[in-house]
Amino acid sequence: MPAPFAPTRINGNGHHKAPMDVEQIFGQNTFGLAEMKARLPRSVHKQLVATIEQGEPINVETADAIALAMKEWAVERGATHYTHWFQPLTGRTAEKHDSFITPNAGGGAVAEFSGKNLFQGEPDASSFPSGGLRATFEARGYTAYDPTSPAFIIEHNNVATLCIPTAFASWTGEALDHKIPLLRSMEAVNKQALRALKLFGDDNVGRVTATCGAEQEYFLIDESFFLERPDLLVAGRTLLGAKPPRGQEMDDHYFGSIPERVMAFMNAVEEELYKLGVPVATRHNEVAPGQYEFAPIFENANVAADHQQLMMMTLQRMAPRFGLACLLHEKPFAGVNGSGKHVNFSMGTDTGMNLLDPGHTPHENLLFLFFCTAVIQAVHTHQGLLRATIASAANDHRLGANEAPPAILSIFLGDQLTDVFEQIAESGKASSSKQSGFLGLGTPVLPHLPRHAGDRNRTSPFAFTGNKFEFRAVGSSQSVSLPLTVLNTTVAEAIDDLATRLEKALGKKRSKKAVENALRDVIAESIRAHKAIVFNGDGYSDEWHTEAEERGLLNLKTTAAALPQLTAASTVQAFETYEVLSEAELESREEVLTEQYVMTINIEAATTENMATTLVLPAAVRYLNELGEAAEALDDLDLDMSGTKKIAAAVVEQVNALQKAAGALSKARAAAHKAKDEAKAMQTKVIPAMATVRTACDALERLVPADLWPLPTYRDMLFVK
Ligand code: ADP
Ligand code: MG
Repeated sequence: MPAPFAPTRINGNGHHKAPMDVEQIFGQNTFGLAEMKARLPRSVHKQLVATIEQGEPINVETADAIALAMKEWAVERGATHYTHWFQPLTGRTAEKHDSFITPNAGGGAVAEFSGKNLFQGEPDASSFPSGGLRATFEARGYTAYDPTSPAFIIEHNNVATLCIPTAFASWTGEALDHKIPLLRSMEAVNKQALRALKLFGDDNVGRVTATCGAEQEYFLIDESFFLERPDLLVAGRTLLGAKPPRGQEMDDHYFGSIPERVMAFMNAVEEELYKLGVPVATRHNEVAPGQYEFAPIFENANVAADHQQLMMMTLQRMAPRFGLACLLHEKPFAGVNGSGKHVNFSMGTDTGMNLLDPGHTPHENLLFLFFCTAVIQAVHTHQGLLRATIASAANDHRLGANEAPPAILSIFLGDQLTDVFEQIAESGKASSSKQSGFLGLGTPVLPHLPRHAGDRNRTSPFAFTGNKFEFRAVGSSQSVSLPLTVLNTTVAEAIDDLATRLEKALGKKRSKKAVENALRDVIAESIRAHKAIVFNGDGYSDEWHTEAEERGLLNLKTTAAALPQLTAASTVQAFETYEVLSEAELESREEVLTEQYVMTINIEAATTENMATTLVLPAAVRYLNELGEAAEALDDLDLDMSGTKKIAAAVVEQVNALQKAAGALSKARAAAHKAKDEAKAMQTKVIPAMATVRTACDALERLVPADLWPLPTYRDMLFVK
């Protein structure tokens, strides 16, 4: 029977509502600075601001005052529970809700929330991955209040919960989460950048903050299709499915007008996010049919990472209200573009300077050149590590395929900057900045480059885009925290190195002229050593792969090849120097990510086998039955049944191939579990075995009648809006 694939056409609750008042609702559900100021005694508020802005440790005495104000605010908004909201190494968020209610002597109860409740929680850590950092007998884990990221309220219909962003550590103090290292790495950047700025004679800056704006790509499909596909439900991506007659070739979806139901969904997501103080700014269609994007205004990297998690949560939470399912997977559909997350990164000062802003004449802007050089040096030195931060079973489908940045890390600088750096590397100084046609349009930044699939710039995994770098190879479902942590740490290391060389060259001299001359030399030296990472050409081309090899760049094609970089000597050195992660903490991350890789492939393989056996093969056999009956009938009528027989033969061929392939997949999976290197076995044995099953299934999808086919097709999923 054909499944009832009629899409649900509703707009939210089915009725029109007044347009939202952004100013009114923005931050309404967050306990932000304004709210705190209004509710806290002045001295407490002052201390909190010092903590948020200057990273000063919070005074325990003020904790109760903050907790009380926070509770009152939350209870006024209908919250009955609170949760320490944290980011375990799964890459997602975790929460355990506790009620404010405390019984009192009179048999009643009061809402209570102390400084202790606010500052520290103790979830059972044993059910979160720790990568060997914690034995089960010492399963204690602690969550600790992060005052630099505002608490917020999540509303589910009539239930409101106060969520407190927290860090998560073992009882021995090791980081079991992604927030602690991110905060530590931001401190490293702050320290080193301040030191450099002082050398340049800038004493006004009190703090340098890593900034991030992460663009999120995602797919939307009708929820009924999602619920009918075991692979989407369990693995987040389609494990089978023949290519539709039409894919994204027409290029008519990108930046096209947004379908009505999708628009209603986006609007609801924006409203939720505004209430949570997440500054989403742009929305549009992406390249593939059914693919869309949201981008926020950039923020301090720690807050941006929390907000990015809220964005992913909100996208998935709101979709069912519109009869939609939101797919965050990196590659939900074979043959059409996958989804990424462009992590835009820069460093800003509390005096309002963007350290990666070149201005009109970058050759004169030595400060910019210094920090830009630091990023180039960091990315070149730690290219393997950066590759490891984006490694996952899901992202393996993108990186290196001709639709996403290649697995080779390189930096796109654009013509103007490349020219400036080339001048410096050759002669030790740059005397001009190319003012080509597309520059000098009265804006200090490069014009926004078109992101059409044909644009060569899109092929770069790490691109300079005007006044920031954009790490584009990050996966759509990933937490941005690890990539940001690595960027911060390695950039801090490069700034440290450049500043040390500068200090040496300067001796006691500090005059403007002396600093400028020394700086030129230091930059020139670094660029000569690291320019191999700069590549402005087509990252998809075969020539680039050959050239990259000649340049000595790494090409870590798979997760299994990339993850060991997390514990490479150069990684340990950098992370221990800046006290971001210890060797044991790095090892734990490698272990957790490897485990996740193995688990993902294992689940996919089991699901593929199950779908082949319980959905595809039965459908094909039913069809054979029909063909058999038809052939008999034709025979009875003395008609030519050769055509029918040929169809049956084609089906039989695929049925036999599929039956054999499913058996082989089952064996490969069992063998992988016993293999010494399970991740490698998954990659080299199980993935190819899954592909063989898929080939037979997809061949059958082209043969079996639509009304017998048990799954929504690519056409249904991609084109029903
Ligand atoms: P494009 O991708 O075309 O460069 P935008 O200029 O809109 O587009 O920026 C994309 C993302 O980069 C946005 O999320 C934006 O907030 C972010 N971004 C802009 N400036 C910075 C910065 N200084 N630091 C970090 N992210 C930034
Ligand atoms: Mg971008």
